[in-house]
Amino acid sequence: MTRIRLILGDQLNENHSWLSSTDTEVIYLMAEMKQEATYVTHHIQKLIAFFAAMRKFAAHLENEGHRVVYFRITDPDNPQNLRDLIYRTIKEYNADTFEYQMPDEYRLDKQLERVCESLDISCNKWDSEHFFTSRTTLSEFFKGKRQLLMETFYRMMRKEHHILINEDGDPEGGKWNYDKSNRKNWKGDPGIPSIPKFHHDIREIYDDIEKAGLPFLGRVDPDAFNWPIQRENALTLLEHFNCNLLPHFGDFQDAMDTGEPFLFHSRLSFALNAKIISPGEVIEKVIHHYRNSSGDIHISQVEGFIRQILGWREFMRGIYWMQMPGYKDNNFFNNSNPLPDFYWTGKTKMNCLHHCIETSLNHAYAHHIQRLMVTGNFALLTQTHPDETDLWYLGIYIDAVEWVEITNTRGMSQYADGGILATKPYIASANYINKMSNYCKRCEYDHKKRTGDTACPFNALYWNFLDSKKEQLKDNPRMGMMYRLLDKIDENELIAIRKRSRAIMENPDKF
Ligand SMILES: Cc1cc2nc3c(=O)[nH]c(=O)nc-3n(C[C@H](O)[C@H](O)[C@H](O)COP(=O)(O)OP(=O)(O)OC[C@H]3O[C@@H](n4cnc5c(N)ncnc54)[C@H](O)[C@@H]3O)c2cc1C
Ligand code: SF4
Repeated sequence: MTRIRLILGDQLNENHSWLSSTDTEVIYLMAEMKQEATYVTHHIQKLIAFFAAMRKFAAHLENEGHRVVYFRITDPDNPQNLRDLIYRTIKEYNADTFEYQMPDEYRLDKQLERVCESLDISCNKWDSEHFFTSRTTLSEFFKGKRQLLMETFYRMMRKEHHILINEDGDPEGGKWNYDKSNRKNWKGDPGIPSIPKFHHDIREIYDDIEKAGLPFLGRVDPDAFNWPIQRENALTLLEHFNCNLLPHFGDFQDAMDTGEPFLFHSRLSFALNAKIISPGEVIEKVIHHYRNSSGDIHISQVEGFIRQILGWREFMRGIYWMQMPGYKDNNFFNNSNPLPDFYWTGKTKMNCLHHCIETSLNHAYAHHIQRLMVTGNFALLTQTHPDETDLWYLGIYIDAVEWVEITNTRGMSQYADGGILATKPYIASANYINKMSNYCKRCEYDHKKRTGDTACPFNALYWNFLDSKKEQLKDNPRMGMMYRLLDKIDENELIAIRKRSRAIMENPDKF
């Protein structure tokens, strides 16, 4: 009697109930597969991080006394796809049961359902025991409601899980949301403490990736690969966050700086998305630290962080399962332009884009505002097809898995769902970028000018976007102020804005 239990690369949860006892009749099946490594061109650091974390996890299981069958990407007998992997392992071990944890990606969910339908042995699916919510919590909560507001969902989650709620059931500190105090620019003070170093040896994995001929983008310095690939790294990073970054997290959440790619951000997204660490324990440790800080940490810093994990992360997952598979095809504005080539090289004179893309290529990372208000903003203003934008975001970031990538990109950043997820498009001119960063100070373009050769391209594109998407946006109450300002621009300047925007959109790589 043998039971095969599949563990996917983003299901590295040491605390899963499967693992609470050992059983010689259970085989844990794990595989680095071309199917997963090539469905999009991934960043080299993302491939390394997933393979390294999987190898560490398999070794941990073996140390704990579990039976493990593991295929490396270069193993000659690696089936390289999920279907053959499952069929062959069942046959080889004469298994009578196949089990899996419900995947977070629609694509894999359907594939596993199909495989199970075709098997003539019993097949069970389990929860991954990671999230606060189930796949359907959000759709049940918003049933019959027209608008899916994150804030409403977040307040329900705070109450339901009793997080930062006082004895009367009110939010601690008196406010639900400190978003307005999370918008400071960072000018070098307070300093950023250095990040803990993990000293991973990733050369063997890098060689395996090359040997297997996997396509990749981005860069890696083998001596400086520093992502948390096992539980103890993730716990160290969380401790570092609590002690050094949390006191300022909320204040500088939206700030951007040429010299500091990570600022006060936690860098926990990979460990969270691979389930190396759970959102519940992250929140618990953050709140524990806050309670023991003798008043040194303001609630606004803590609430700003909790909102990302308990609010946005669970909200995105709920939207994904509510909206897939149709969400993938949304293109509300019918945008059709290709993504500029410089997204793959960072070679552009626009300093903000140059820095955000270089950071992404060097570290497989950019923080939320860089993704939303620089690269995402430019892709939307240049009316790029959301398929192209999605592919870039899905490949380049260390934390990019579809359930959280597509909702953030197609929904929040590109407004391609027509407002299911966001109440208005996140677009901005150079004014915002200049306010939140030091990018404009060292840019060839003038952030104050709208037209002319030296004018910042974001400015013409911003007004042109509002002008050209007027039919779709004019009735949105949150856009009223922008349209009143657009109306004040005189006709000659509007003609010049349209002309410059056309030139940028026709050849963005010239700018
Ligand atoms: C266009 C775009 C694409 C994105 N793609 C992804 C993606 O593929 N994977 C991903 O995990 N996040 C994505 N995000 C959200 C966010 O940018 C990253 O979660 C964050 O930058 C990760 O860095 P960090 O761990 O230092 O986050 P911190 O700023 O320290 O935040 C803490 C945690 O909160 C969670 N979080 C924060 N913002 C969001 C959000 N908007 N949605 C869901 N969770 C959030 C993450 O788990 C993160 O680790 C995207 C955002 C945008 C605008
Ligand atoms: S001037 Fe424009 S292009 Fe240059 S950094 Fe500022 S916003 Fe970016």
